[in-house]
Formats: sequence, C-alpha cells, structure tokens
Amino acid sequence: GKTLEIKNLHAGIKNNEILKGVTLSVGAGETHVIMGPNGAGKSTLGCCIMGSPSYEVMGGSITFEDEDITEEETEKRAKAGIFLTFQNPIEIPGITLADFIKSAVDAKNGSKCRYMTFRKELDSNMDKLSMDRAYADRDLNVGFSGGEKKKAEILQMLMLSPKLAILDETDSGLDIDAVKVVSDGVKAFHENNDGALIIITHSTRILEALKVDAVHILVDGEIVKSGDESLINEINSEGFEKYL
Ligand code: ADP
Ligand code: MG
Ligand code: MG
Repeated sequence: GKTLEIKNLHAGIKNNEILKGVTLSVGAGETHVIMGPNGAGKSTLGCCIMGSPSYEVMGGSITFEDEDITEEETEKRAKAGIFLTFQNPIEIPGITLADFIKSAVDAKNGSKCRYMTFRKELDSNMDKLSMDRAYADRDLNVGFSGGEKKKAEILQMLMLSPKLAILDETDSGLDIDAVKVVSDGVKAFHENNDGALIIITHSTRILEALKVDAVHILVDGEIVKSGDESLINEINSEGFEKYL
C-alpha cells in the first residue's frame, strides 16, 4: 500500500473546524508539495499527520504503511518513522545541535547508539549539506541564521532517515542559501531511502530545484486542486486568486 493515506480528514481546535475533508495519498519515494495561502490549514495538516495533541480529529482517517494511526500518540508515530519540522524552530541554550539530534535518534531507535558511530554519520551528513562541522557543537538554533536553522532541521531529517518527512517551510522567505540546503537535503534524503516527502510551502522558489511528483493546493481546509509540477508555474504567475 501507500506510505501515507489520508481519507476525508476533518480536524480542528475545539469547535473550530480547520481541515474540512482532506484526502491525500503519498507513495514511497515520492515528493509531494502542498501550497496555499496563509491560514489555509497547511501547518494544521502537518500537525495532524504527526498527531499533535493540540488538534482534534473530527472525522476521517490517517493510515501510515497500512496501519490506521488516526488515534496514535505522536511518540509512536515518530518511532514508526514520521518526521515533522517546525515552522518556527526552537532555540535551546545549553543543548548542542549534536546532543539534540542524538537524543532524537536514540529515542527513535529505543536504544543509545555509540557516540563515535553517531558522530561519524553526523559528519558525513553535514558534509552533504556543505555545513561547517563546528555547528554540531553550538547550542541548538541559538544565534543561527534562518538558513542555518534550516540546515539544522534538514540534518536532523537525514539522521533520522524517516519513512515520511514533512517539511513545513517558514512563512518568511528563505534566502538563496536555505533554498540550496533544502534541495541538497531532499536529494540526499531520496538517495538513502525510499521515504516519502511532503513539502509545505508558499514559496515557489524552493521548488524550482526539486523534482516533484505531485502538487496540491489547499484553500480554507480543502484540497481544491492537485496536479503535476506545472501547477507550480501556474501559481508562480497567477497566484491563488482563482481558487479562493
Ligand atoms: P497555514 O499553515 O496554511 O498558514 P494554519 O494551519 O497555521 O494555516 O492555520 C489554519 C487556521 O487555523 C488559521 O485560521 C489559524 O488561525 C487557525 N489555527 C491554527 N492553529 C491554531 C491554534 N493553535 N489555535 C487557534 N487557531 C488556530
Ligand atoms: Mg501560516
Ligand atoms: Mg503554516
């Protein structure tokens, strides 16, 4: 079956329905893009796939590798291989980037890996992202630029090697450096495993460097249009107006 199968998902907060019947199917090794105006529910969809307790599922189902995970806890989804980046990365003074990623990897595996083994793999992934190895020993995101935070996220994704990765892009535009990081990271991600990828963005620039299998436009909690890469060019020149 598919890696991710979402059927008629209704979800929101308290009595406020944000997602109003989302159906989406993502296969192994595929890259799907979700675009849409601010407030459409893109981040909500990512959070629901990850099982964030802040959102309530009001109807429909989420299936991951043929298992219904609609009611599953976030921690179990992470262990099963689902990964979500945050729209606003947190800063943690006192915890280095390497420490943070190692705890995430150990938590996912349910056991502690040897530090040297971990560090070798970390170095190799940092090289793939043209990331200065010194960043591993800096406090997580503290004083990092937008591009560096993005690198830290993508590095974490590569180290966790999830079966499904959801990248929720920042609303503020990514600089050229960050755009390159994401595209290099996506290439490295698909090299190592046949994981599926969902990229949430409203910047089309990030997509120019990527091979994309499907594009979905989310407006007011509903996917109003799905198509191939050509949809990105359409949005680029015409915007979302005709779907509002
Ligand atoms: P997008 O990521 O597409 O910009 P969001 O998923 O962040 O959209 O938000 C969709 C809608 O749900 C918005 O109207 C937003 O205000 C509302 N919303 C999202 N999260 C919350 C929350 N925690 N509390 C209240 N409203 C929320
Ligand atoms: Mg938003
Ligand atoms: Mg968002």
